[in-house]
Amino acid sequence: MAKKRKSRGRGKGSKGKAKLVQCDNCGAWVPRDKIVRVTRWVSPVDPQLEKELKAKGAIVPKVPITKNYCVSCAIHMGLRVVRSKKERKESYTRL
Ligand SMILES: [Zn+2]
Repeated sequence: MAKKRKSRGRGKGSKGKAKLVQCDNCGAWVPRDKIVRVTRWVSPVDPQLEKELKAKGAIVPKVPITKNYCVSCAIHMGLRVVRSKKERKESYTRL
């Protein structure tokens, strides 16, 4: 069977089965090595208030929020882009 990607869109290798993780956007169950994991540093403070606090010299803490997305959602959100056959073969990335 022809392979679209060297990794088959996963980072599993010959490991066998990978545990399933739920997509944070649509709720689909996806293997852990196939998900698109995004970490954003988000401030718990309101953006307007944060701006004012920063202007006065305060240090506003930020909290890392990690989210797991399935490939469909990642493409929809623009985290991953659909590449042509040539582009897919040129550089090897996880997805
Ligand atoms: Zn999803």
